[in-house]
Amino acid sequence: MPREAILRGEELEEDQVALSLRPQRLSEFIGQTQLKEQLKLYMEAARARGDILDHILLHGPPGLGKTTLAFIVAAEMGVNIKISSGPAIERPGDLAALLTNLNPKDVLFIDEIHRLRRNVEELLYPAMEDFKLDLIIGEGPHAQSIRLDLPKFTLIGATTRTGLLTNPLRDRFEVVFHLDFYDESELKEIVLRGASILGVKITEDAAQEIARRARGTPRVANRLLKRVRDFAQVKKKSLVDKELARQALAMLQIDEEGLDELDRKILRTIIEKFGGGPVGLETLSAALSEEKDTLSEVYEPYLLKKGFIQRTPQGRVATERAYQHLGIAPARSREAPLL
Ligand code: ADP
Repeated sequence: MPREAILRGEELEEDQVALSLRPQRLSEFIGQTQLKEQLKLYMEAARARGDILDHILLHGPPGLGKTTLAFIVAAEMGVNIKISSGPAIERPGDLAALLTNLNPKDVLFIDEIHRLRRNVEELLYPAMEDFKLDLIIGEGPHAQSIRLDLPKFTLIGATTRTGLLTNPLRDRFEVVFHLDFYDESELKEIVLRGASILGVKITEDAAQEIARRARGTPRVANRLLKRVRDFAQVKKKSLVDKELARQALAMLQIDEEGLDELDRKILRTIIEKFGGGPVGLETLSAALSEEKDTLSEVYEPYLLKKGFIQRTPQGRVATERAYQHLGIAPARSREAPLL
């Protein structure tokens, strides 16, 4: 895996192999306390009524547990889950096939739901609202519209940002949950849990060290843990202690704030090429040769959260904290006359 990819919250092939790290039950799901409490309540109420759970929209940066939660909901409700994603459902017929294959009460999980095509999305509206499927049979003047009954199901949609969703789609979700970055103590718990599943012996402070640099993201925490484990293996150490974790993380060029090479490059570019900003996303992505979506959905949320950049209507601005972190004197003090 390229080193710079380790800190990205997006799913990589390696993560799929490690499905064992995915919590199966709500009680194993660490953090997001408020969300868990509410979800538990909704599930209990639905179960007591013998009914399905309302449609749920999960939004938040990649790697925070949206897919995991969808699987947990299905497991807790004792139903099957079918998974797909916005870009994978290319034609209305693909969605129709998915919907007609559902069993009553099933969960349908659609990742990146904001990327559904318009004509597919429109088919979803009556399906969500009335559990009906509107199909057009034939073409031209002989085209006929027929309405089929669907089994009642729960749609769980995931998106990195609700702002990317159309209003009609957003309005059809009865429950909307936002997943926020995890704090260090929660990530530490996730690292310790992962270590015990993977059979890695690790000290509390080493777990803390990994947690601190996991950019608030469980997927990153698990990934760093695996890299540290590999490092320990090569160094023939049976226990991961703080020093070993630090060495491994340093080798990965992940700094004290959990920033990787590209994070620092983003900050350096804003500061050095654009005088600290503001600089528009388009310009920045061209200067960095990185995709706009990767910058705005993977990198920016954490840089914003950590206060290294700010978003203004004119574009992105590097904060003083960014200058300090990179050891660059802010423009203002550079221009100030020496006393
Ligand atoms: P998303 O769908 O938001 O991109 P995932 O649900 O795929 O994220 O989670 C990524 C990985 O992080 C999971 O495989 C799981 O191992 C881990 N993970 C996510 N949330 C938690 C959590 N709350 N507790 C423990 N592990 C978690």
